[in-house]
Amino acid sequence: MGRVQGVGFRPAVYRIARGLGLSGVVYNDTKGVTIELQGKEEKIAEFLVRLQSDADKPPLAEIKSCDVVELPVIEAEGKFTIQTSDSQGSPLSQVTADIATCRDCLAEMADKGDFRYGYPFINCTNCGPRYSIVKNIPYDRPNTTMSVFKMCDKCAAQYTEVTDRRFHAQPVACGECGPNIRLTDNKGKTIEAQTEKVIAETAHLLSAGKIVAIKGIGGFHLAVDALNNKAVERLRERKKRDHKPFAMMTDSVEKIKKYALVSESAEQLLKSPQSPIVLLPKRRNCPIAPSVAEGVRTYGFMLCYAPLHYLLFEQLNNYGTDVLVMTSGNISDEPLICRNEPALERLGCVAEAFLMHDREIHRQVDDSIVHLVDEQPVFLRRARGYVPSPIFTEENCRQEIFAAGADLKNTFCFAKQNQFICSEHIGDLEDAEVYHHYINSIEHLRKLFEVEPKVVACDLHPGYLSTQYAMSSADSKVISIQHHWAHIASVLAEHGLSGPVIGLAADGTGYGTDGAIWGCECMIASLEKFERFGHLAYYPLAGADKASKEAVRPALSLLQKAYGSKFNLQKFEWLLKRIEPDINRLHIISEQLEKGANCVQTSSLGRVFDAVAAMLRLGSYNHFDAQLPMALEAVIENEIEEQYDFELTNRTGEPLQLDLGKMVKELIADIQKGLTNSIISAKFHNCLAAGLLEMAKAARESTKLNTVALSGGVFCNRYLTIRCIKLLKKTGFSILFNRDVPSNDGGVSIGQAAIAAKQV
Ligand SMILES: [Zn+2]
Ligand SMILES: [Zn+2]
Repeated sequence: MGRVQGVGFRPAVYRIARGLGLSGVVYNDTKGVTIELQGKEEKIAEFLVRLQSDADKPPLAEIKSCDVVELPVIEAEGKFTIQTSDSQGSPLSQVTADIATCRDCLAEMADKGDFRYGYPFINCTNCGPRYSIVKNIPYDRPNTTMSVFKMCDKCAAQYTEVTDRRFHAQPVACGECGPNIRLTDNKGKTIEAQTEKVIAETAHLLSAGKIVAIKGIGGFHLAVDALNNKAVERLRERKKRDHKPFAMMTDSVEKIKKYALVSESAEQLLKSPQSPIVLLPKRRNCPIAPSVAEGVRTYGFMLCYAPLHYLLFEQLNNYGTDVLVMTSGNISDEPLICRNEPALERLGCVAEAFLMHDREIHRQVDDSIVHLVDEQPVFLRRARGYVPSPIFTEENCRQEIFAAGADLKNTFCFAKQNQFICSEHIGDLEDAEVYHHYINSIEHLRKLFEVEPKVVACDLHPGYLSTQYAMSSADSKVISIQHHWAHIASVLAEHGLSGPVIGLAADGTGYGTDGAIWGCECMIASLEKFERFGHLAYYPLAGADKASKEAVRPALSLLQKAYGSKFNLQKFEWLLKRIEPDINRLHIISEQLEKGANCVQTSSLGRVFDAVAAMLRLGSYNHFDAQLPMALEAVIENEIEEQYDFELTNRTGEPLQLDLGKMVKELIADIQKGLTNSIISAKFHNCLAAGLLEMAKAARESTKLNTVALSGGVFCNRYLTIRCIKLLKKTGFSILFNRDVPSNDGGVSIGQAAIAAKQV
């Protein structure tokens, strides 16, 4: 069992068995792969060892478990065969993720004697597109977007030869029979159609500072020379993306090392078959255009992952162009564009030229984003390369489940048999086009994985679009699940546990069972139930929707809460004017807070970060999610031990409360003293880590539990996460955090599915 279908597993079994002189048969079934062997006992033992060795196992295969039983010999078999009928194959495991070009294919592409020399769509069983080209099941060529290309004799011979690296590689193609590239202007008029010239001209345009839209595996990228600041700024302006950092691509780790610090684990991750964007610490004074990534300490780098990318960089090297910005081909927060016509229509005003191809992308898949915490890879966005690889559970789900996810950074999830199948990153559902994409994606994946869920799990928030969608699934049982409970459950599900554990959820916002907006929670949680053990003391937020963007709102709230009746707007005008220069607005919001008009009570930790970042003049508005918290983390230069003070208040019958009033006062005093932002920010982060630790200790005291699960969007903050882990470890806790799904709202859907699975 494991990832053993669609990855060249049967041919590998065939090769090993034949090599050892064993006879028998191998076939796919609903659980994975079954192998029947006849031969000498020691040869069978050797077979089992070799099957799991890196040298013999296909690179993409992953064996989760292997049961061995002895069978009576009914008749002696003379040879080893592959049973190719896929009819009994489970659709669950047929479709695998899109994988970066493998070394063998790169070598062939560079070999003048090979018939795929310089062919931009070279692929084999070990690499190439999968998920992005599948239209239906079973995963066979006619059900992919490759169906329009008829294989030539040479390709067909490889495709049907069991011992070939391209045996049953559905997208197999060559220059003779497969897709081709062309370069067009922004109206779609072909400038060049001959492969080599297309690539040379694209490289020429890019090195001259032009913006080119490039069609890749999961969609279009907008590309521009990352060292040309004017060009990058032009891209920013046209894409209507004011501040969010751009990702970059190049063709070797050595080049990345010129611009960023690459640890050994980061290097492995960059070179992995999944080829995600990895966030890496910037080198000082490096020549990357400043507008690529302002206000953060990291660059997002990925290596080439499609053959076309490699061919392009080969040409770019002739111009001395090292690195490209490769950002999602879309405007603002709309869905990624993956088809030629819409690309010209929507991106014609952004890109000067289009590098197109005629292999249709059926499912758009964004690049995955990963960073390293304690040298462990942690997801910020899970998409290309990883989706739709399932996450396995110990127990079979009694019923099939659909989990709708959260509204921001949405993913959804299906539970079927012993697998959780999470969708790729869908986006923020408040954008009408993203919502439309969400609905279509649910339908597509439901068909692809043959799921007929009668149980639907969703967030407790009645206003979420995902909740409303779930509620509209008329014939289903709907289970509403508190947001932060789902966060903690996502950690349990990934680790195959059911709890209880002490859950620390540090997050922006989530709807609470009391109608307040929760965000910093200490829970005693299992997949069956949760108890709210402690939380950040409530503070009021004025103007619900605006409060997550405008930092002045939480800043005023925290000041009023910290100083109570002693608060006086005039006294803090010096500080608040940094955030909102319009005194009138300050008065209006302040009055609103005093009267409680259009206010909600919240324990959001994300908003506290916003307020503190704004007090330190790091910005006053979140143009994109977590912009201010990221800026606040970015100013920390070194870990220091000092911290601000906090209080834990324990009233009988109520959850423990973490009060940050003292922190606010000390922090303002430090600003007045002129202490650097770097130190203030570190003291602030340390205070939160210590506060979370104290809540966990109190929970341990009361429950005798010793395992802490960390989740929630605030744990995308590396400094805070590392600090928390360090403190918790020192205090003897064992720690769990998200490793297979993001700790932000992208991980909520699997948590919802895991909880629902226990309730049916
Ligand atoms: Zn390959
Ligand atoms: Zn061919």
